[in-house]
Amino acid sequence: MKQPDKETWTILKVLEWTKGYLAEKGVENARLEAEWMLCAALGLDRVGLYVNFDKPLTDKELAAYRAMVTRRAKREPLQYILGSQEFMGLEFTVTPAVLIPRHDTEVLVEEAMKRCQRGGKVLDVGVGSGCIAVVLAKNLPGAEIFGVEQSHQALELAVGNTERNGVVVKLVFGSLFEPFIDQKFDLIVSNPPYIPTADLALLQPEVRDYEPWSALDGGADGLDFYRRIIPAAPDHLTHGGWLLFEVGIGQWPQVLELFEKTGCFTELFTVKDPGGIERVVGGRIV
Ligand code: GLN
Repeated sequence: MKQPDKETWTILKVLEWTKGYLAEKGVENARLEAEWMLCAALGLDRVGLYVNFDKPLTDKELAAYRAMVTRRAKREPLQYILGSQEFMGLEFTVTPAVLIPRHDTEVLVEEAMKRCQRGGKVLDVGVGSGCIAVVLAKNLPGAEIFGVEQSHQALELAVGNTERNGVVVKLVFGSLFEPFIDQKFDLIVSNPPYIPTADLALLQPEVRDYEPWSALDGGADGLDFYRRIIPAAPDHLTHGGWLLFEVGIGQWPQVLELFEKTGCFTELFTVKDPGGIERVVGGRIV
C-alpha cells in the first residue's frame, strides 16, 4: 500500500483500495473480506467500521491490517488469517493444521443427531478441528462423544476447541479404529479425506496451497478411507448402531456399494445437502 499522505487512509478509503487489490488477485468477496480483516485489525465489529468510515488509521493499525491483506493476496484462506470459523453456531479455532469446517458438513451432523437422541456412545473418525464432535457434544448432552485423529497438531487444536466451547469429548491419538480394540459405539461418523489425488492440483489456491492435504487426499479415486473404515466398522458397532459418512460429489453409489459388500448393513440411505448434492451416506448394522 503506497501512501502519498498517510492522513488520507481512512477506513473507507482503505476498504475501497483493498477491494480493488484483492479482486485483482482473484479473491471473490473482496470488499466483505476486507471488512472482516479490518474489523480484526481494529478490534471493531462491522457496525463499528461503518460509523467510523472517515476515521484515519494509525500507523500501527495500518501495519497490522496490511500484514493480513498481504497474506490474503497470496490466497491464504481468510479463516486462517482470522484464526476462526463458525460452524453450526459455534466458533472454532482453525490453523493450517486442520481443514476449515464447511457448511457441506452440517447435513452429516444433523443426520447424526437424529439417530442419537437417546444418548449412547458416538465416535468421530478423523476429528480435524473437532467441529463435528464438538457440535454433537453440545447438542447431545446424554451421549458420550469420542474422537480419533492421526495428526498431533490437529488433535491439540481439537482439544482447544472442546475447551473453547465448553464440552467434553474424549479425544485420542491414532489411526481409525486402532485405539479402540474391543470398543463398540452406537454411532460412528466420519468426514474422511475424499478428493481423488489427481484432483488436488485442480482445487482453488486457498484449498490446494494452504489446507492440509492429509485431510483432503482420498487416494486414486478418493475412496481409500471408505474402503478402510466400512469393512472394519461392524466390529465397532453395537447391535443396531449406525455408520454415517460425508461423501464427495458423485461418490455415493460406490460408497453404498462398499456398505452392501460387507453384508452387515441394512437401512442404507443417502441425504442431499442444501445444494442438491448427495452428501451423506449411511447404514445400520444388522
Ligand atoms: N472432521 C473434520 C471436519 O469435518 C475434519 C475432516 C477432514 O479433515 N477430512 O471438518
